[in-house]
Amino acid sequence: MKHVTEYSKQELNDMLKELTIQFQEAKKLNLKLNMARGKPSADQLDMNMGLLEFPKGFMLEDGTDARNYGVLEGIPECRRLFGQLLGLDPDLIIIGGNSSLNLMFDTISFHCLFGTEGEKPWSFYGYEGSPVKFLCPVPGYDRHFQICGELGIQMIPVPLLEDGPDMEMVETMVREDASIKGIWCVPLHSNPQGVCYSDRVVDRLASMETAAPDFRIFWDNAYGVHHIYEEVPLKNILEACEAGGHPNRTYYFFSTSKITFPGAGVSLIASGPDNMKELKGHLSSQTIGHDKLNQLRHVQYFKTPENIRAHMKALAKVLRPKFDMVLKRLEEELEGSGLAVWSHPKGGYFISLDTLEGCAKRTVELAKEAGVTLTGAGATYPYKKDPKDRNIRIAPTYPTPEELKAAMDIFILCVKIAGIESVVN
Ligand code: PLP
Repeated sequence: MKHVTEYSKQELNDMLKELTIQFQEAKKLNLKLNMARGKPSADQLDMNMGLLEFPKGFMLEDGTDARNYGVLEGIPECRRLFGQLLGLDPDLIIIGGNSSLNLMFDTISFHCLFGTEGEKPWSFYGYEGSPVKFLCPVPGYDRHFQICGELGIQMIPVPLLEDGPDMEMVETMVREDASIKGIWCVPLHSNPQGVCYSDRVVDRLASMETAAPDFRIFWDNAYGVHHIYEEVPLKNILEACEAGGHPNRTYYFFSTSKITFPGAGVSLIASGPDNMKELKGHLSSQTIGHDKLNQLRHVQYFKTPENIRAHMKALAKVLRPKFDMVLKRLEEELEGSGLAVWSHPKGGYFISLDTLEGCAKRTVELAKEAGVTLTGAGATYPYKKDPKDRNIRIAPTYPTPEELKAAMDIFILCVKIAGIESVVN
């Protein structure tokens, strides 16, 4: 398709008529396709079934019986495995349950309830009439925003640029406003754009001056080993914070949800020594210990960080044709049209597409009408409000290749209809 501005109004109206006929035809197929959530496909899950043959035996290397209560911080062999994988100090890791999101919610809740390092609990600010604020790089992960919403934390969107958040903006805001207590970061293959943070951004985050002494970075490295096209390195934020004189600035999160089984994997949190001590104190009132048999299962199955990386390469082989297909179809149908721009991720789980201004909601509605469910327009912004109504998250991982092809055909049709409608009206 030529650029939309190169067509006359008459030509665009004719094109719209033709596209509408195609849309009506597509509706008759009564499809039921889903490109909404970033879930692994059944094929991917099948590749992890060997995990369920473990654990074989239940005695830990230090003689502890993994079947029983205890070991709040997680079994040493599991902390060591993920410490090696991510370059983290195993003594500063706590292995959680099956969900890192759960750890994020709990950690922020603890700050709201108890405060940290002797500072006022974050929820007090809300009772005093001026809630604490978090910086939210956008577009971002809807469930991060949901945590803030649930806990009464005000969200301030910050543009996510090619190599991380707009640091000029971040540095100015955190220097001037002591009620800004946190920032969300998905530093590798971000959800949804696939942005990877540069060393420079990591250093600036780690060393910037903050008005709030209890400012924290919530470093959600959910896609830390999820490379598809290219292995992207990531500077170690905990080391950078330590070097910058802020050893407790960052909470680092990770999980095996998209390595083994979402809902039945293991998660972790890592941070500086003071934070870990505080965290263990709070956690010890919450649980006697997480599922050690599952931790052991993961250790015995993978054994080494190299094996985890090899496993991720095998999973990438399943994911790559799906990403290829989405990118190819977008290129064939929309490149140069001026109707959309999209991301070219090197890994992760998503492709982010921006329609013409004011067209994302309409596109998602049209797709729904034709049986294709997409993540709600606006979901990638705090309060579900995309100010320009442009961003749509495409999640290509779950459908089969055939379903994905059918879903993309309809999606592209909808992007065209919504875009051309907005140009002619
Ligand atoms: N963080 C990000 C950025 C995600 O995209 C997701 C899932 O899509 C999660 C966290 C969820 O992690 P978990 O399954 O460990 O709770």
